[in-house]
Amino acid sequence: MKALIVHAHPEPQSFTAALRDQAVATLEGQGHEVKVSDLYAMQWNPVASAADFSSRENPEYLVYALEQRLGVKKQSIAADIQGELDKLLWADLLILNFPIFWFSAPAMLKGWIDRVLVSGVCYGGKRFYDQGGLAGKRAMVTVTLGGREHMFGEGAIHGPLEDMLRPILRGTLAYVGYDVLAPFVAWHVPYISAEARQDFLVGYAQRLQGLADEQPLVFPKLEQFDEALYPLR
Ligand SMILES: Cc1cc2nc3c(=O)[nH]c(=O)nc-3n(C[C@H](O)[C@H](O)[C@H](O)COP(=O)(O)OP(=O)(O)OC[C@H]3O[C@@H](n4cnc5c(N)ncnc54)[C@H](O)[C@@H]3O)c2cc1C
Repeated sequence: MKALIVHAHPEPQSFTAALRDQAVATLEGQGHEVKVSDLYAMQWNPVASAADFSSRENPEYLVYALEQRLGVKKQSIAADIQGELDKLLWADLLILNFPIFWFSAPAMLKGWIDRVLVSGVCYGGKRFYDQGGLAGKRAMVTVTLGGREHMFGEGAIHGPLEDMLRPILRGTLAYVGYDVLAPFVAWHVPYISAEARQDFLVGYAQRLQGLADEQPLVFPKLEQFDEALYPLR
């Protein structure tokens, strides 16, 4: 298997970085090939803009997704985007590794998603969910957070974690076709003991070792909808 880990944390010695290193060691230990995109270390540019295209179909008015589609075909898309897209298409497994910022991903990672999951390759027209451009590949989200486990779930103060991560799990990963595995979550990370953090690292390694047997989360399939995308009864 080939795995791409996209890591977004501003501190190289963070616990989130320890999870990244654990994933690299575990997956490589199983004989898998692993590539890492360390977005802060790469000084990744997270801003989707006109500068992403060396030539444009419409220089007067930027329709970003349209220019993405043509930019990939005409090789006029920015080299940093193309480099990440090549890694994405190479990998059978994508792991997004990040701390929760404001119920979401750091802007750095959001900007990677905006720029790299290009229209025409990853999705486009009726190519989404099970028909998405990355169908047949698997993805997983690995997150650290400040909150405690009991703060998440039905009836809990913050609601279910899957609701919080919906824009990423469903609106991004499932949308472009990935089989999305359940997130790996390290709760309350800054406030627990070093031993408790170590337990998360051990649990993560065990989880990764059994990944091949995991069933993905359930998302819509286009066959459940008509031409206009109304649900079939
Ligand atoms: C802008 C912003 C918004 C946020 N929004 C939210 C939110 O919406 N919800 C929420 O719950 N939280 C939120 N947080 C909190 C944030 O998610 C957590 O602080 C973060 O996930 C903790 O992980 P970390 O990797 O940054 O931990 P770190 O602070 O890097 O590490 C915690 C401790 O682990 C130690 N450590 C490092 N490596 C190891 C190792 N190998 N073994 C054991 N210990 C180690 C470090 O030295 C440190 O003492 C937010 C934080 C910010 C900055």
